[in-house]
Amino acid sequence: MDSKEVPERMLVSKIEEGTVIDHIPDWKAETVAKVLRLDKLKRMQADVSVAILQNVNSKSLGRKDIVKVDRWQIDEKDADILSLVFPGITINYVDEWQVSKYEPKVPDVIEGRIRCPEVLCISNAQREPVVSKFAALKKERTLQCQYCDTMIGFDAVPDHLR
Ligand SMILES: [Zn+2]
Repeated sequence: MDSKEVPERMLVSKIEEGTVIDHIPDWKAETVAKVLRLDKLKRMQADVSVAILQNVNSKSLGRKDIVKVDRWQIDEKDADILSLVFPGITINYVDEWQVSKYEPKVPDVIEGRIRCPEVLCISNAQREPVVSKFAALKKERTLQCQYCDTMIGFDAVPDHLR
């Protein structure tokens, strides 16, 4: 057997219920875990298993990462944010062994999840802060704060998550 073929076939067993995030750029699975806040599953003591596969052979990408979350379907809004950062990503929801591909949408507006980098922004106010609100400028691959106009590139979004 060709040893290079082992990882994908041996490690990626099918799951009955959950989410498979595929075609992640190689070595970027940790960023995916951060965007999806997989650590919150630990706090919830949820009965889930997470498999992170890194640097797996891929026909289309050469190398890729895969994140499999068994018994947990990720939030669609989180999936959309993930696709801002990694446009080529594939998100599959699995329900009773049936796989359905989720088509992420670049949202027009993102509320709440992203912290404005401008400390003086009203969304960062100590007293009575307003919920952060960013418009997506799709062509520029940039988010713009709706209060202070501060820009965040799509690629930098993981650094500004709440
Ligand atoms: Zn702002």
